[in-house]
Amino acid sequence: MATLEIKDLHVSVLTDDAPKEILKGVNLTVRSGETHAIMGPNGSGKSTLAYAIAGHPKYQVTSGSVQLDGEEVLEMSVDERARAGLFLAMQYPVEVPGVSMSNFLRSAATSVRGEAPQVRHWVKEVKQAMSNLDIEPGFAERSVNEGFSGGEKKRHEILQLDLLKPRFAILDETDSGLDVDALRVVSDGVNRYTEPGDKGVLLITHYTRVLNHIRPDHVHVFADGRVVESGGPELADELESSGYVRFTGKKEAAA
Ligand code: ADP
Ligand code: MG
Ligand code: MG
Repeated sequence: MATLEIKDLHVSVLTDDAPKEILKGVNLTVRSGETHAIMGPNGSGKSTLAYAIAGHPKYQVTSGSVQLDGEEVLEMSVDERARAGLFLAMQYPVEVPGVSMSNFLRSAATSVRGEAPQVRHWVKEVKQAMSNLDIEPGFAERSVNEGFSGGEKKRHEILQLDLLKPRFAILDETDSGLDVDALRVVSDGVNRYTEPGDKGVLLITHYTRVLNHIRPDHVHVFADGRVVESGGPELADELESSGYVRFTGKKEAAA
C-alpha cells in the first residue's frame, strides 16, 4: 500500500515577464489501487500539475509538497522519482536521435529495477508488450520519439507502463488526438496496468470520452488552478452532459 499525497501545492510558471501563479493550492491523495481522474477546462492548470510533479524547470513550486509514502518527491532527481516508482510521461526526453526505443526502454528498466534485464528475456518482454499494443515490430529500432505521430507517442507511454510497471502513473491527456481504435488500445493498456489492483493512476483529461473505457474510482474537477469538486464516476457523467459551466461560470466553446 503506497500513497501519493499532494498538499497545498502552489506553482508559478516562469515566463518572460513576471512569474505567473497557475496552481493555487492543490490538495489530492492517491492511494495504490485507485484511479483518479482530473478533469477541467483548457488552461485550468492540469498540465502544470503534471509538469510540476515531473520537475520541469519552467514550473516553480512556491509552496506545498508532493510526497510518496512520506518522501518528498520535489526534492528527488528525475531518476530518483522513477526509482521511487513514479511514472510521469513527460519526464522523458521529447526526442533522442540515435537512441533506439529498445535501448531506451532497457536503460529505463535498468534504472527502475536496479539491475539490467537479461537481454534474452528483455527482447521477449518488449515483443509481448508491443504486440499487446498493436505496435509494429520496427518501432523498437526507431529513435526515441523521432517523427512519432501523436498516436505513437501515446502508445509509447503505455508501452513504458507495461514494461516498467511503476507504482504510480500520471497520464496527461493520454486520450487526446487518438482515433477510436487507438483510444481503445491505449485504454486497454491502462486497464491492463491497473488490473493487479496495486497501482495508482492520476488520469488527467479534458474530455469525458476516455472515461467510457477507463472507469475512475474518483473524479476531481479542476478549475483555475485548484480542485473545486471531488466525487465518484457520476461526476464525470455530469460533466459529459453539462460541461464545466457550473464550475467556471463560463460557457466553453464546444470541442
Ligand atoms: P491545462 O493543461 O489545464 O490546459 P495548463 O497547465 O497547460 O492548463 O496551463 C495553465 C495556464 O498556465 C494557462 O493560462 C497557460 O497559458 C499557462 N502556462 C502553462 N505553461 C506555460 C508556459 N510554459 N509559459 C507560459 N504560460 C504557461
Ligand atoms: Mg491545455
Ligand atoms: Mg494540458
